[in-house]
Amino acid sequence: MNATKKCPHCQQWSAWHHQVTDRCEHCHELLDPKAHQRLLAQDEREEEESKKINIALIEILPTDSAFTRFWKRIVQGFQLMFMAILSFILWLIALLAG
Ligand SMILES: [Zn+2]
Repeated sequence: MNATKKCPHCQQWSAWHHQVTDRCEHCHELLDPKAHQRLLAQDEREEEESKKINIALIEILPTDSAFTRFWKRIVQGFQLMFMAILSFILWLIALLAG
């Protein structure tokens, strides 16, 4: 089904696919700049969230002894597991909130 939306910029009617990225056929401005803004803000928030759980992984240096490398790998494993659990919880929260 084709919908139309009035362009807020040139006041002409354009095809509207219910996408925030839809642009006016006449002036090529966004048909729903507010929704687009919201989407951008959401993207930024998600980026921040992903930064939060992006724990600096312990670095394994080529100069480390086999013993040190072994322990560092275990610590890395825990860090990765922790991040996976954390992202799962965040995903769950997003799901419940949405
Ligand atoms: Zn327009």
